[in-house]
Amino acid sequence: MENYFEFDTKAKILSGDKALSRVAFELKIRGKNKPLVLSDRGLDKLGLVGTAIKNMGLKEYDTFFDVPVDSSTETVNTVTEKYKSSGCDCVIAVGGGSVIDTAKGVVLSLVSGVSDLGKIEGADAIVKVNDVLFIAVPTTAGTGSEMTSVAVIKDNIKGAKLEYISSFILPDVAVLDPEMTISLPPRITASTAIDALTHAIEAYTCLQKNPISDGFAIASIKLIFESLERVVNNPKDVEGRKALANAATIAGASFSNSMVGAVHSIGHSLGAVCSVAHGDAMAILLPHVMRLNKEKVGDLYGELLVFANPEKFVSTPKSERAEAFICEVEGLLERLNKSCGLATTLSATGKVKKENFDEIVTKAMNDGSAIVNPVPLSRERIIDILEKAL
Ligand SMILES: [Zn+2]
Repeated sequence: MENYFEFDTKAKILSGDKALSRVAFELKIRGKNKPLVLSDRGLDKLGLVGTAIKNMGLKEYDTFFDVPVDSSTETVNTVTEKYKSSGCDCVIAVGGGSVIDTAKGVVLSLVSGVSDLGKIEGADAIVKVNDVLFIAVPTTAGTGSEMTSVAVIKDNIKGAKLEYISSFILPDVAVLDPEMTISLPPRITASTAIDALTHAIEAYTCLQKNPISDGFAIASIKLIFESLERVVNNPKDVEGRKALANAATIAGASFSNSMVGAVHSIGHSLGAVCSVAHGDAMAILLPHVMRLNKEKVGDLYGELLVFANPEKFVSTPKSERAEAFICEVEGLLERLNKSCGLATTLSATGKVKKENFDEIVTKAMNDGSAIVNPVPLSRERIIDILEKAL
């Protein structure tokens, strides 16, 4: 890799108690009067979007709550049309990855003045013709989507998931209000936080790492080790919820500006071939991929031990710190398995069979994050990881 990097981050972060109540001020100073609020039916049913709208103090607004779990270019086009026809002047996404990705697609269409997202190719070459204020309110603490310049949206005509990468889809404001995540069940809290931990560990060790993404990754790892088990054992721990939300957001900024690695390339493939939930795939694969990568980036893993277990770092000789850090990660996953049922093997998901391996490997080799993994991936290496994870 060339000795050059870019670090692009944008969102003003409103984080902590009553963060949602600050949104009205942000709209006012930016001269915005009518947001389009995007969410999904599940969150609407839980009353979470209603709470967000009330706490943001929105008066005039329009809504679209029909974002599906796996969003598509058709959904994006429908929302874009609604935005224009109802005279909205900004976008607020309240939800998890799919809702925020849909909003990113809408913002990309509006910014570029295109009405069909499917017509946009090579998002990096887009010329901005409109300004669209984009506010993200995550309802999980994991994807970090509020800080990333990537959106994954299905194109039903092409029959493929398309990745849109553009700095124009970075949200302008990210709102981390503990009221949005306080009711997440322990198991989902665990798997989403492990996704964030994986973002941070892979960002810190992949071939495109840089000193600024390193700083964000370290801060995220420290927060997750300090807070995750506390929250899983006591879901109403507001301070812990805030820490996990901050951790997921800064891990998002980190990997959006470096990359992820083999945990994600194999994890994406497990999702596509066997419908394994993203966070579960991360939890299952992370220690095995770390053992593969240890020969190349063992020193970096060793450095991270101090943020996972400071006492252990002091008492462990330098040459043994990498393995000790991997053991800390494994220990955390095993304890989460016992306390909330987090899956730690492929068999535990009940979705993956040996006969799926061939397809999983082919897709993983073609995934964008495979090329920046510190140890080059091969079919044999991926099979080995899958067998160990079974
Ligand atoms: Zn992830």
